[in-house]
Amino acid sequence: MNAGHARAVRIRDGFSRRALFSLSAFTEHRPSVIDQVEPRLRELLSGVDGITFRCESAPAAAPLEGWVVVELPTLALLTPGWLLQMLARGVEVRLAPCGNECCAPVAGVEALAAGIAAEPQRVLDDTDVSLSEPRATVEAVLALSRSQPTLRLEDDAAPLGLLEVSDQLCTLCGACVTRCPEDALSLDETEEGSALGHDPAACTGCSLCVSVCPESAIDVRRGIDLERLQAGSLELVRSARERCTVCGSELPPLPLRRRVNELLGDSDAPLELCRSCAMRSRPA
Ligand code: SF4
Ligand code: SF4
Ligand SMILES: [Zn+2]
Ligand SMILES: [Zn+2]
Repeated sequence: MNAGHARAVRIRDGFSRRALFSLSAFTEHRPSVIDQVEPRLRELLSGVDGITFRCESAPAAAPLEGWVVVELPTLALLTPGWLLQMLARGVEVRLAPCGNECCAPVAGVEALAAGIAAEPQRVLDDTDVSLSEPRATVEAVLALSRSQPTLRLEDDAAPLGLLEVSDQLCTLCGACVTRCPEDALSLDETEEGSALGHDPAACTGCSLCVSVCPESAIDVRRGIDLERLQAGSLELVRSARERCTVCGSELPPLPLRRRVNELLGDSDAPLELCRSCAMRSRPA
């Protein structure tokens, strides 16, 4: 690799260190840090051997020859995608945390990245460095795992969600689709039926869908499933379109019919009939 000069880059984010410990401040300021770091990294990446991300409170150390030091207000700003984006460009990464609470979250992030790519591999080009999650992690994982056909891990540091939906409980009501802030969930209504779909590359694992589901049908964990990422959109629940066998009117999805009957205390009502025909079919 190129043995260039050791360089140091200091990233200022314009907010007080005290505010860093508030989650809302993170959410608010992370984009401004990303806006500063992304273009600088694009400039710096070509020809460097490695990058050290250093907390500004960490003790100063002499930079390694051919390495760049990027100093941040706290390493808690780093996500797995930052590290993986560097590793996927053949650039080694080291972290210099301060050792205090300020940088504590980065240990989990570092372990997750190491589990995905133990060594740098040049599988992405230098120009389009993306540090916004979950895109940063998805792009790097897909590129880095070409030689590693299976990868499935559950890890709280992952910026992605692994979603499971019970087809026994889900009524295809669509409440989770409306609530999802990332448009990761979709409800497709076609001539054939209704289907609840999920885009694993867009899901941040925020769990808002879990809190809104009236049937407690959803389970979300944080993690990475390469097979799902490669497959793209995933069908979670499907119900075929059916018509009332007497009057021919369109019926709601089967799980919803079951649930409505249950809520009405009428679990034995025939599922192949609409409510009106079911009432009429009752013995007087
Ligand atoms: S966990 Fe969040 S991002 Fe993922 S599907 Fe649910 S609401 Fe959407
Ligand atoms: S998972 Fe829950 S909220 Fe989403 S469609 Fe199914 S029942 Fe409705
Ligand atoms: Zn620190
Ligand atoms: Zn009918």
